[in-house]
Amino acid sequence: MKKSRLFLVIIASLLLVFTMVTMFNTLTLKSLQPTPKHFNGTLKEDHAINTLSKAIQFKTISYQDRSKMDLKEFDRFISFLEQSFPVVHEELELEMVNGHALVYKWKGSDSSRLPIGLTSHYDVVPVLEGTEKNWEHPPFSGTVKDGVIWGRGTLDDKIGVIGILEAAEHLLKEGYQPGRDIYLMFGHDEEIGGDEGAASIVNTLNERGIKFDFVLDEGGAIVENMVPGVDQPVGVVGISEKGSATAELTIEGSGGHSSQPKSSTNIGRISAAIAKLEKTQFPADLQGPGEDLFEFVAPEMSFGMKYVFANKFIFEPVIEKILLGQPASAALIRTTIAPTIFHAGEQYNALPEKASVIINLRLMPGDSLEEVKDYIEKTIDDNEIKVTIEGSEASGVSSIDSWHFKTIQQSARNVYDEAIIAPYLMFAGSDAKHYDSISENTYRFLPVQLTSEDLNRMHGTNEHISIENYLNAISFYMEVIRESNQYSES
Ligand SMILES: [Zn+2]
Repeated sequence: MKKSRLFLVIIASLLLVFTMVTMFNTLTLKSLQPTPKHFNGTLKEDHAINTLSKAIQFKTISYQDRSKMDLKEFDRFISFLEQSFPVVHEELELEMVNGHALVYKWKGSDSSRLPIGLTSHYDVVPVLEGTEKNWEHPPFSGTVKDGVIWGRGTLDDKIGVIGILEAAEHLLKEGYQPGRDIYLMFGHDEEIGGDEGAASIVNTLNERGIKFDFVLDEGGAIVENMVPGVDQPVGVVGISEKGSATAELTIEGSGGHSSQPKSSTNIGRISAAIAKLEKTQFPADLQGPGEDLFEFVAPEMSFGMKYVFANKFIFEPVIEKILLGQPASAALIRTTIAPTIFHAGEQYNALPEKASVIINLRLMPGDSLEEVKDYIEKTIDDNEIKVTIEGSEASGVSSIDSWHFKTIQQSARNVYDEAIIAPYLMFAGSDAKHYDSISENTYRFLPVQLTSEDLNRMHGTNEHISIENYLNAISFYMEVIRESNQYSES
């Protein structure tokens, strides 16, 4: 055989092997979605709708300046819960932590099993002054019209509080008793960090040595057209949340008159540092919760995308490049940097003696504050710029192979049988991080189907929820309670 022919034969054989392996990987990629079970609950819809509408009318607003919070209104809200859910209040033990955070204990038939926790918060963010008139229905009216409930908290997160209580009330009336203890825990200051609410609940339970099998909080939702190559809606369950930190870069040195400047000024040096950071960025890596998301979504993708994701071992660089193309997907695979405040100079003809920049960072699980600081220093490569960093690292990463995640996934599928339910990494903070210390598994999922406009309304104008979505949320919580009953390994 001539050399050139031998070469061609080798190339052709390699191509054949390559095609066979990659096609095999694609065709054998199995769906990770459980088969939906038929949901057969009957809800008292009028009660549910009316209760959420009324709940919205309480101005339980959190302010950064806590003295502005009208705690009397929070008290009234708590009394309202008592009136609205008589069976829950008769059969469950209620404990108030710090006056306004609520812990309901629902005793199961076997208290030796670890309990599960369902949590959400009843405080809401304020309505920005001057934007009230932009609301189609006033933000605290709780207007119900054309199949929609309007107002602040319909999505974030009175729907969680009322949804969970509706589910419990309903199951109790059916005579249902859970197989293990269930805690319903509602914070009252999540929007300003949760220190008095969720964090205090956790301290209280920790002191008693109470640990949870899993805790479910608000978080990801079911969204459409967000994942390329997938036609079905995708429900994302947060299994971790990114850390949030602030880095300050400061340079100090001689100022001087602007008529005879040195070639390198403080503003120039800080600007150069930012430019270097933005150009270099933190390294991207498709791993952890970001990788898990695609593992769950890939089997449901169109053939081309499925082929790429099924053969990640070859295409990972391509996938990462695609993900880095959009800010939302880029944030899934790397620690992000956002310069948010720049300080320098006061007078037009005087060089500032000091310049500084604040950079907000969102840390990937596994990136420590120390490592992030080192990386910044190495990248800017200017030892006269002082770098300080403070904030929190990412939360732990909860399991996706265990029954805990499967319970949530199954429950979601039972209600939203068309949706793909997958794990993901949350960028925003939630109360769930506080529960890390009493549960190895914390999940973040709001069981409603949202559009990207709905997501913008969450802390913005015209927050609302369709009645259909809201009733589905209640059904979901009922399913979680029932599904979690089936597992007896703990
Ligand atoms: Zn919230």
